[in-house]
This record gives sequence, structure tokens and C-alpha cells, in this order.
Amino acid sequence: MRFDAVPMPPAVAARPRDPRGYPVPAITPWHDGQPQFALTDYGRSADCARGRLCSVCDVLIPRGPVWRVVGATESAAIAAARAAGRPYRNMAPTPEGPGHRACMLYAAMVCPYLARPNARRGTDARAPDAMTAHVVRGAVRGDSGAVVGYGDYEFAVTPTQVLFRFLDVVEFLPHDTGDAHLAELRAELDRG
Ligand SMILES: [Zn+2]
Repeated sequence: MRFDAVPMPPAVAARPRDPRGYPVPAITPWHDGQPQFALTDYGRSADCARGRLCSVCDVLIPRGPVWRVVGATESAAIAAARAAGRPYRNMAPTPEGPGHRACMLYAAMVCPYLARPNARRGTDARAPDAMTAHVVRGAVRGDSGAVVGYGDYEFAVTPTQVLFRFLDVVEFLPHDTGDAHLAELRAELDRG
């Protein structure tokens, strides 16, 4: 979906924009005045983790559940666990931080990286410099994913990476494409 056809959460609308008007997520690094959408900024990600700030809009996430966009593999694993009536548990850490429900619904619809995170398999951590470690993400799109709510998360800020682990799935909103979330996003923004 074109990003300008998707209703924008107010905190996302307050983000800096790229020359197309596309809002730049909180954890996106800038280089020569250009946002590097495919990368995650170590310092910004660490600030979000330590301050419980949304990785999209940079605003505090209230106490309670957090959300993120997952790719096809994790989405399928969550669906299988739910179908079998067992809790889903994935202890593998990820460099992708949490966010607000509205922000993640929005991101799933407009951001090719977030909407199709399974494309980022083969994540390649570059040799870190003194200040920053970037995680390079592939831009190839996958088939499906989900916006997932979690009861809790934990994080670790290592010298080179910020890693998150998500616990207790409390909401599961699968999609073939991010467009599937338009009604849910509108309802979430109405609840405001
Ligand atoms: Zn947010």
C-alpha cells in the first residue's frame, strides 16, 4: 500500500521525513542527511531499549503489552502453537525492538522491511566500529507475517548489538500483506 494512503498515528506523523515524505523510524540511522531505512542504529536502538521507547515513533510504550512485526517463519510457528493449544516460546534474540500497537500496524502496512521481516533472514552483522554496530537487512520480500503483541520482553545492550527477546504472545494478527491491517489500524487510531 502507498504510505500516504495509510492513516498515520500522530506520533509517527511527528517523525522526521525523507524527501518522499516517508516517516523515518526512531531506530533508523542517518547518513549525510539521508535515512538508512535498511539499517538499525546501535545508539538509537539502545536508547529505545533502555527507555522503553517505541522503535518506530520514539515515544514511551505504556506499561503492558508491546508489539512487533514478525516474518513468515515466526508467524507460522505462532499459528501452529496456537492451533495445538500450547504456548509459543521463542528464546532466539532479535535486533528488532518493540513498539506501540498502532505503530506496528502502521509499519506492517507501509514499511517493506517491517512488513516482510522474513526477508531479513541472513541478517548480517557488519564488523562494528567503536560507536555503532549496524545490522544489514536484506530487502527481498517474503510472503507473509504478522503483527504480534507480547506480554513482556527483555533486552541486552552488548558492546556491539542491542538484542530483544519477546515473551508471552497476547495477540496474533497474521497477514499475507500488510494491507490486511487497515481496518484494525483505523480502529486503533479511533480508540486513540
Ligand atoms: Zn510508537
